[in-house]
Amino acid sequence: MNLVAFSIRTKGKSNFARRLWTVFTRFGFSEGRTRRALQTIVGCLGEYDSAPTFFIPATVLGRHPDLLREIAGSGAEIGVHGYVHNDYRSLAYLDQYKQTERAISIFQESALPYQGFRNPYLGWTDESVRVFEQLGFTYDSNEAVLHEVVDLDTIPEYLRGGFEKSLRLFQATSCSAYALRPHFEGDLVRIPTSIPDDEMLFDRLRLTDAAQVGRIWCAVLRQVYDLGGIYVLNLHPERGVLCRQALSQLLSCAREKAFPVWISPLANVAEWWRERQRFRMTIKPITAGYWQVSADCSARTTILARNLDVLDKPVSEWSGADQRVHARRFAVRASRRPCVGVSPDSPMDVLTFLREQGYPYVVCSREDAESYALYLDIPDGLGTSRHEQARLRSELVQRIEATPEPLLRFGLWPDGHRAALSITGDIDSVTIQDFFLRIVEVR
Ligand SMILES: [Zn+2]
Repeated sequence: MNLVAFSIRTKGKSNFARRLWTVFTRFGFSEGRTRRALQTIVGCLGEYDSAPTFFIPATVLGRHPDLLREIAGSGAEIGVHGYVHNDYRSLAYLDQYKQTERAISIFQESALPYQGFRNPYLGWTDESVRVFEQLGFTYDSNEAVLHEVVDLDTIPEYLRGGFEKSLRLFQATSCSAYALRPHFEGDLVRIPTSIPDDEMLFDRLRLTDAAQVGRIWCAVLRQVYDLGGIYVLNLHPERGVLCRQALSQLLSCAREKAFPVWISPLANVAEWWRERQRFRMTIKPITAGYWQVSADCSARTTILARNLDVLDKPVSEWSGADQRVHARRFAVRASRRPCVGVSPDSPMDVLTFLREQGYPYVVCSREDAESYALYLDIPDGLGTSRHEQARLRSELVQRIEATPEPLLRFGLWPDGHRAALSITGDIDSVTIQDFFLRIVEVR
């Protein structure tokens, strides 16, 4: 199916006509407009000592390597957005593999380092995950989490249909603490992305008031902050200038939070998630009610203690019932061993999951259950299908996070950050010519 047919199917006829009009207003025949838009986003992030992550189809990169090297040189991270701008859901494993390999070779020819992949239309499959892992990508950013921050009752019926089409296209899952965390699949870090994105707000719902868009993004950030997860905003650079005010509003919201929000490009998030996977914590009894804790982790690790006394070591206030511990070896007073107990019948995927989430655990018999903050007996494991796994893992995170018992754990983000924010954007086209070449290329 070509781009016109695909666009009409996903956007509807009137939206497609409108889209054609915006192509002529947002792109130019030269690189000038896109350069300005990219630099605008880089500049906004620069004020916060951070940088955005842009994804670009390899064929578009192949036509504009100097521009992309310039943008990378100003601090932005560049990732792969397909070989051409097509939907991997319509490709078999081998075609996905070949196209990804071709994309990589263009990045290499352009002397542009890359680490991550985001699919056009967020169209990934189980095969894509295997391909990314086999071809050495560090991470992907494709799993869409829906934030219900737009009151659809206030949106006219004819626009709502387009919005709902986007939701189906993006295979969105609902928001939970677990859905907002990166996770490993094999060796690949999978970093969720949040919707609605700018395209859904501006072009589908026609919200053109920058302050209103800014308020919606701040509402998403509030939700993510409360759940301690990551907010990956997708802002297509073609709307970069249009969205500058909303982006500034979002970044200043992040800065005003009581506990810091980590504003970071995605490659650094993936690197951190990999670093964090190696952390271990041992908790041994000293005498009744006292425990010796030893954490093997990097200097920037956040160690959190809930409802227990940390003895003779510095702690600082953190969110809710948690305190942040500024030591790696310390003693605590707690009525129970402040970690998770796991039954011997629980399979390996439960243990792997707890370790990845930063919850220390001990495998122990059911008779000892009462002496742990929380005891898990999950002989059937954490699901087989993708859907079941997401549900069971989400429920387990909620259960652990809600326990009122004394509990030690590794925080999700480095250096005491409460949540993370990544500003990303897909550079689908640089010029008007690129936009029309897509129609030919995706055939
Ligand atoms: Zn795209």
